[in-house]
Amino acid sequence: MKAIAVEPGGGEPVVVERPRPEPAPGEALVRTLRVGVDGTDHEVIAGNHGKPPEGEDQLILGHEAVGVVDDPNDTDLEAGQYVVPTVRRPPNGTNEYFDRGEADMAPDGEYLERGIVGAHGFMSEYFTSPAADLVPIDESLAHLGFLIEPISISEKAIEHAVASRSAFEWEPESATVLGNGSLGLITLAMFEHVLEIDRNYCLGRRDRPDPTIDLIDELGATYVDSRETPVAAIPADYEGMDLVYEATGYARHAVETVDALAPNGVGVLLGVPEPWEFEFDGGQLHRELVLHNKALLGTVNSNRGHFESAIDSLSQLPEWFTDDFVTGVYSLDSFHEAFNTGDDVIKTAVEFDRV
Ligand code: NAP
Ligand code: BGC
Ligand code: ZN
Repeated sequence: MKAIAVEPGGGEPVVVERPRPEPAPGEALVRTLRVGVDGTDHEVIAGNHGKPPEGEDQLILGHEAVGVVDDPNDTDLEAGQYVVPTVRRPPNGTNEYFDRGEADMAPDGEYLERGIVGAHGFMSEYFTSPAADLVPIDESLAHLGFLIEPISISEKAIEHAVASRSAFEWEPESATVLGNGSLGLITLAMFEHVLEIDRNYCLGRRDRPDPTIDLIDELGATYVDSRETPVAAIPADYEGMDLVYEATGYARHAVETVDALAPNGVGVLLGVPEPWEFEFDGGQLHRELVLHNKALLGTVNSNRGHFESAIDSLSQLPEWFTDDFVTGVYSLDSFHEAFNTGDDVIKTAVEFDRV
């Protein structure tokens, strides 16, 4: 079968031939339909995040997949069932995090991530997976199934943000998304259409005309240009934001988020920056967090429950949004297009088989 692999830090992704995998007991064989591309894939290609499996030079890419069960093997799945795989797998048998269904909370060394950290991904004509890590979806969502993984990332982030504010009455009325990449924009759509937050802002660093700014406008949110407006000055009646969601990977934004928050607000950090030393006022940061009951938290990955919530959220997003958000779905013959970056690209996927 054909697969898309890369030598991290060693060039562009290429098509390679691999044997079709055989499902082990408890695993199903899945025929891949579509696999999305995000900022993490570009970090993996550049060699800045993740690694191939132990002893190998190449990593099969892809962690945002949708497929159809080809061989249920000994599992309860049925042939023809549409499924979305979760990303994390245990490194050596199981461990307590996976046993609890909380693989997303496992520390380094206690997980592999398919297509990212030490395990091959889903960009191949077929893949196998334990049935417990395959989330069934309705046929009507199959063409957009590759959006469920990124939505699940924000389901987790929102769950943790809400949990951190659960000791008191907290209903976010204003929110800012830092970053107009694919993760930032789909989260902005969730804030508008799933959480129904009144006032939403989204930060970028681009000039109009630009398709991401058009999407921000069409969602009814306000575009903020980081070259003109510092994060802490984003207006919401000048009182600060109840919720800030960072998806730029720009490390200063982690610190600036604290100043941007309203009293009792929460900032969630998603970006994965390179190490970067810079100066900031640690006293001010500490003081703001304490005297205004602010929370700042980091979150990574998502578990099966978040995938299940993501299916609901995806079905609540308007069709015009997903139409404009997905700027290209490319067959294996033109898969390079899916890895292009440029201001006209928002979200892309590689199609291995017709939905
Ligand atoms: P992406 O497509 O690279 O998006 C990042 C966006 O942030 C880009 O649109 C970029 O603008 C914008 N940006 C960067 N620096 C900025 C600045 N100083 N001011 C304004 N805008 C700025 O990546 P993505 O897929 O959306 O993911 C976003 C981040 O989340 C990445 O760091 C990724 O690694 C991380 N991530 C984390 C998780 C998790 O589980 N925690 C999951 C998925 C992704 P331009 O396009 O104009 O350069
Ligand atoms: C993936 C997550 C993963 C994270 C860190 C993200 O792009 O969507 O599943 O945990 O990268 O590797
Ligand atoms: Zn991702």
